[in-house]
Amino acid sequence: MPNFANDPSRKSWLEIKKDSDFPIQNIPFGVFITKEDVITIGTRIGDYAIDMGALQQLGYFEGIELTDDMFMQDTLNDFISDGRKTWRLVRNRLSDIFLDTNPKLRDNESHKNIVIFNISDVEMLLPVQIGDYTDFYSSKEHATNVGKMFRDPENALLPNWLHIPVGYHGRSSTIVPSGIPVHRPYGQTLPNGETQPVFGPSRLVDFELETAFITTDANIMGEPVSVENAEECIFGMVLFNDWSARDIQKWEYVPLGPFLAKNFASSISPWIVTLDALLPFKCESPVQDPEPLPYLRQTGKHAYDINLQVAIQPENAEETIVSNSNFKYMYWTMSQQLAHHTINGCRVNSGDMMGSGTISGPTPDSFGSMLELSWGGQKPLKMNDGSERKFINDNDTVIIRGYCQNDQVRIGFGEVSSKLLPAIEMKF
Ligand code: CA
Repeated sequence: MPNFANDPSRKSWLEIKKDSDFPIQNIPFGVFITKEDVITIGTRIGDYAIDMGALQQLGYFEGIELTDDMFMQDTLNDFISDGRKTWRLVRNRLSDIFLDTNPKLRDNESHKNIVIFNISDVEMLLPVQIGDYTDFYSSKEHATNVGKMFRDPENALLPNWLHIPVGYHGRSSTIVPSGIPVHRPYGQTLPNGETQPVFGPSRLVDFELETAFITTDANIMGEPVSVENAEECIFGMVLFNDWSARDIQKWEYVPLGPFLAKNFASSISPWIVTLDALLPFKCESPVQDPEPLPYLRQTGKHAYDINLQVAIQPENAEETIVSNSNFKYMYWTMSQQLAHHTINGCRVNSGDMMGSGTISGPTPDSFGSMLELSWGGQKPLKMNDGSERKFINDNDTVIIRGYCQNDQVRIGFGEVSSKLLPAIEMKF
């Protein structure tokens, strides 16, 4: 199946700003609502949202086997179910429709009026109904940093970590798209030096810089996905801020891992960038020593070179970039995570989401959480407006951006941006 949508020489008849995250080589998928309250599946080229439901009704997907209302739905789950061949056919078709030399839509003003929206005139919704959400813990640097702070500096990595892509089952019910604000959560914490817990708003709310991948129907119950085949089962990726309450986490996480410290909110970027679009950016992942067990072994390039950045914007002030990291630092790859997840026969469905785990790089300015950047609050970060941060303050907006770049093309994710609101006034 050719993948000519990736051809870097292709140009669109739509005007696209230089350095846009969304050139014609990207063609991500999302769901948006228009000012007329129409919800549709769409793609984005430059600063335009493209209504794929309307394109389908107008016959632009003719020749591709799709159910009649495939793109008039409010989630991508059915489309993702159709598998990689269909994703590729549709992405190639969209690339053709907007190719500079193709007059079909370019020269049809009435169709253009129906199909094309300014991105500022639509509101992005969750792109999939997320059935299950799993969060991994696959950055060696992050696991080491957290181990040093929460446990034992001498034995920061637990013995299983180098053998298992460690993960836990999260909740999908509180995953929200970029732009939706999040309230500071309440919970139990154990103040330093005390023996009895107290209750109140978390004082240590943090972001986690992550990406997440979205799967198709990967298997049936009882049937593992092999590490070789795992990437075929991955539709695409988003940026992911896995909001965390560190003080709640510290008290509750023993022995079963995080619970209420993590499930009050997680925010994702709204456009799913396909694994197909990311192909030019595959790269080597870190050497794994000891060698993983055979079912996790793989050769070749299975990491992705995705530049990641986190900024904090206080209310009415300019933003400060607090971290620059890269997805390629991850010790365990997405295919290893999915192979491990299903090795016991666990079923993975279309629209399931798997978080990478916090992505920390090797240097202190590449850490993926305030917990690490401020080293547990010991080293406050200086903000551009003169204030300091150990964790996230009320009314701060956390912005995560991500993009791939080579000398021919830039494929980006846009951003996931969400504001932390004060705790809701409640009487207990
Ligand atoms: Ca996480």
